Amino acid sequence: MNTSTEKSLFRSEVSHAVEMYFIEFIDRVFGYARNAYVEFLQKHFADYNISANDIRDFANFLAEDVVDLAGVVVLGKNHKKKKWTEQFRSISIELLYKNLKEMQISYFSTLPRENMFYRSCYQETYFGGDIHHTDTCFKEGAHTDVLIVPFVEKFSLNTSCPVCFEDYDEGKFIYEMSCGHSIDCGCAEDWFVEKSVCPYCSRKVKAVVETSRQAHVSWDENDEITVDIYLTTKPYDRKKIDYGMDAG
Ligand SMILES: [Zn+2]
Ligand SMILES: [Zn+2]
Repeated sequence: MNTSTEKSLFRSEVSHAVEMYFIEFIDRVFGYARNAYVEFLQKHFADYNISANDIRDFANFLAEDVVDLAGVVVLGKNHKKKKWTEQFRSISIELLYKNLKEMQISYFSTLPRENMFYRSCYQETYFGGDIHHTDTCFKEGAHTDVLIVPFVEKFSLNTSCPVCFEDYDEGKFIYEMSCGHSIDCGCAEDWFVEKSVCPYCSRKVKAVVETSRQAHVSWDENDEITVDIYLTTKPYDRKKIDYGMDAG
């Protein structure tokens, strides 16, 4: 790598390869969750008259939701849930509520309770270099006691959001905390970034975690490229999240 122009051109290629790697990584997480849900739903709803289409859509929805849940809770991504109850015509809202809750609990129970350290190595032919991926997950960040469920009045302790005081519509998505109180999706994003307690009863909520990602690119004397990616999930400490590419 002789000129700085060549080097900066290469940097953008490497940067692109790292993005592609992460898209694949998220896909794998999503695919795993979706397949687990399809299997669960087929067993669980065997006695109900639910169409294969509804099962597939429901599984997609749940898998996205769990991936999104991490995104929303962790990164505070802007996330608006549409009216979706019409989508699953053969499943009653009570059944959705119960199963959505049960499935999220079982999903979170599979996440590691110990601090986890994972390392993978990946040959990327696109730019002819190696990607080393180190994934560090801290125990406190590996589970949450906030679930995304539809609002069903008879199952809910509060019928309006304690942050914006707006009444919930039946079927609207809410975040239900382990104390049983809930908060609407829009408000939860801002609330949990500032505080990790229930706005109703002030009970501590294990919801606020953050992920950060850093990539370091290095060239050796033979122009061999190595990209080291560090992904960390840890309790939120109000530090700036760094997504930067650092070429060294
Ligand atoms: Zn609200
Ligand atoms: Zn509460």
